[in-house]
Parts: sequence; structure tokens; C-alpha cells
Amino acid sequence: MAIGFTLTPEQIQRRDQARAFAQAHLAPLVERVRETADPFEAALLVKPAHEAAVKAGLIKGMIPEFCGGTMGSGIDAAIVTEELAAVMPDFVASLGGVLLALTPVYFGGTPEQMQRFLVPFLADDGAPQAVMALSEPAGTANFAAPAPAEGIRTTAVPDGDEWVISGDKQWSANLGGWDGTGPEFMTVVARTPGGVSLIGVEKAHFTADNLEVLETIDMPGLRGHLTQTIRLKGVRVPKANLIGEEGQGPDLAYLAFTASSAAVGVMATGTMRAAFDIAFRFAKEQTRGGGVPIIAHRPVADLLSEAKGRIEATRLLSWRALDAVASGDGAGLELALHAKVFGSETAVDVIHKLIQVVGVQSYNKAFPLIHHLLNAIAYPIFEGGNISVRRRQLQGILSAEGWDPLSASGLA
Ligand SMILES: Cc1cc2nc3c(=O)[nH]c(=O)nc-3n(C[C@H](O)[C@H](O)[C@H](O)COP(=O)(O)OP(=O)(O)OC[C@H]3O[C@@H](n4cnc5c(N)ncnc54)[C@H](O)[C@@H]3O)c2cc1C
Repeated sequence: MAIGFTLTPEQIQRRDQARAFAQAHLAPLVERVRETADPFEAALLVKPAHEAAVKAGLIKGMIPEFCGGTMGSGIDAAIVTEELAAVMPDFVASLGGVLLALTPVYFGGTPEQMQRFLVPFLADDGAPQAVMALSEPAGTANFAAPAPAEGIRTTAVPDGDEWVISGDKQWSANLGGWDGTGPEFMTVVARTPGGVSLIGVEKAHFTADNLEVLETIDMPGLRGHLTQTIRLKGVRVPKANLIGEEGQGPDLAYLAFTASSAAVGVMATGTMRAAFDIAFRFAKEQTRGGGVPIIAHRPVADLLSEAKGRIEATRLLSWRALDAVASGDGAGLELALHAKVFGSETAVDVIHKLIQVVGVQSYNKAFPLIHHLLNAIAYPIFEGGNISVRRRQLQGILSAEGWDPLSASGLA
């Protein structure tokens, strides 16, 4: 990594475009999504923003150039992610779902699969959805655990030239597609005779008989993100849809969850930044019956300045992590894990402190601050829970023979 902390003119342009996109297409939706009681209807309100994102090249921008996309550097991705997350992190979580599903194709797919699977995502219109269907209702943290543990329960049984996939999947964005007929592409994590494997399912393979939407989950935050439980009932796909080798599923899935790990740190930065703006404005403008704006009280100013410092720290760590992952730097995984764990837990804590700056007014749902906490609470427990998955991965890195604490900084 060339060390430099100044955005290039192109990056400033990218930031301005992302900021304008967020203001034009996301900001007008935030309150409506929040106030729509039905979770399916709330998430559907965001569909036009997905269409606009495709037109603006945001989906193509998540596909590497060698696959026909326009993906830039990790810093470029971080700039756009933070701008969108500062307005609507639900939307970022949905776009992240696309990235999760397609990453195994970039790194484990054949040239033929890359062409076939990526076609809908290289188009300039529509609102195509790609889903990484890993999580299951009965538990996911131990999906790759060897017998006698149960691990992943969804199965893909060979039958002639086909795989027959059955099982329940939960949590991934857009599992049922916009209308229950399935997404354009699903990367299914399933147990095959050779181990835990990834299989690509295209929309044409879903029918009314083999895909059932069991529920739309009513989440407390991120309500613009369509989150469902589905049942796959004997979905048949060609054997040629196996991504990578049989048994390579965990490696490819972890690879996909590395980029998303860094991206959660960036989401956390965007969410904290938006919450800070609210608390800061309140502290500058409100006297609460005293003679001076409350920022003049030292404990209030201390909370605000501490929050600001932690936002800056999270941004630097997360941008560096995403840059390292995207450029193939060996430090990428370790930094991405820290960005996820540190960023997500810092976000929850910082927003909790900002709520104390505002005080009791923040406990009215009509005041926007509490909603940022409801979003941020998801960050430590999604994209691989910090307790169940991410800290376990960090333990593996730290306890590996020869690990050097300076290596992730390039100082070893
Ligand atoms: C908004 C949102 C979007 C999501 N998007 C996707 C997606 O696109 N694709 C997808 O597949 N999933 C997605 N998920 C699910 C998400 O990735 C979860 O992190 C994942 O399902 C694992 O959840 P869990 O850690 O709670 O696992 P669980 O298996 O449910 O574990 C529950 C708890 O048990 C404990 N535990 C279990 N095993 C261990 C262990 N070995 N060591 C230590 N503690 C353990 C931990 O305390 C853990 O919190 C999404 C979730 C949300 C909320």
C-alpha cells in the first residue's frame, strides 16, 4: 500500500457522486421505511433505489475488471460505502449481499460460470439480486464443523447430471427475490457427498413448487433490507453449477466474508457519523433551559470529542482493511477482522454515548437518533457474529506458529 491519506480528484468526485446518489435516492425513503409496519412492504420501498444503483453503475462497480465489472480500489469502495451507509445502511447491507454471493464466483468459478452467472449483474437496468445463502434457522456459526457435529443442514444430492438441493435458509438479503420467485442468482452452501460445497442457482431453476417463502423477518433496524426464511424443496441445477471443488465451500465462503468483514467497519463508520451529526447539532443548538448550549458543559463536550476520535479511528482501520483485502495484501484478513469486531462494537458504544449527550429526547422514536442504534446493534451479530465467528478467526491468526504482531502493519 502506498501510504497517503489525501483523496485524489477522482476519489473526491466518487465521494460527491455517492453523496448525491444517497441524497437523491435513499434519504427520501428513510422515514417511510421506518414507519412502514409490514417488513416486506418496508423493504420493497427500496426497490427503486436498487434500480437507480444499477443505472448509476454501483452493482457493476462491485465486480472486478477481470470479470467484466468496473471495481476500483478498496479505498474507492470504502468512500462509496461510507456515503451510502451514512444515509441508509440497510441499502448497503443489501448491496453487500450481492458482493457476498458473487465473490466465490470470481475466485472459484470457471470462465464459463463467470460469464453465465454474472450476466444479470453486468446489465445497465433492472434490480438484480444475488444471495449468499449460508445462514440457516438452526444455527450457522458451526456450518463447517466436522461430524459428529451437524454443521450445515441443507443438502445437495447428486442425481444423474444434476444436484437436488433441499433445506431451509434464513437471514440473507432477498432470499425469495422481490416477489417470492427467487433472486437472479443464489450461492447455496450445502452438504454434498464430498463435504460442504457451494452451488450456483440461477433464477430459471426456481419454481413455485421448489421455493417457498416461509416468513419475512420483522427486524428492529435495517428495515429497508429484505430478510426472509425460505425452504428449498428439491431445487434441480446442473452438476456444472458446482463452484470450485466439492468440499471447498468453507474456504470460498470465508473468502467472501473477508471483504464483507472490512465493509462492516466502513458501515459502522457511516452510521456513527450520521448519529454524531444529530447529537452534535443538538448540543450546539439546545440549552435545555440553562444559559448556554449544552456543549458548553464539559462532560457533554468530552462525550462528543471522544466519539469523534473513535469514529476517526474506525474509519482509518476500515479503509485500510478494505484496501488491503482488495489489493490482495497478506494482512487483509487480519485487518478486516479487526475492522469488523472493533468497528461494530465501537459503533454500538459510541451511539449509546451520543444518546446520553442528547438525553431523554432521544428516547422518543420521532427523534432520529435511536434508529441508528437499532441499525448498529446488528453489526456485531451479522456477517459472522463477533463471538461465534470473527473472534474465533482472530484466535486462529494470533495462535498460528510464527505470527508477528507487526506484520499487519508492514513493519515486521
Ligand atoms: C441484516 C442481516 C443480513 C444478513 N445477511 C446474510 C447473508 O447475506 N448471508 C448469510 O448467509 N447470512 C446473513 N446473515 C446472517 C449472519 O451472517 C450471521 O452472522 C450468521 O448467521 C451467524 O449468526 P450467529 O453468529 O448468531 O450464529 P449461531 O449459529 O446462531 O450462533 C448463536 C450464538 O451461539 C454462540 N456460538 C455458537 N457457536 C459458537 C462457537 N463455535 N464459538 C463461540 N460461540 C458460539 C455465540 O454466542 C453466537 O452468538 C445476515 C443477518 C442479518 C441480521
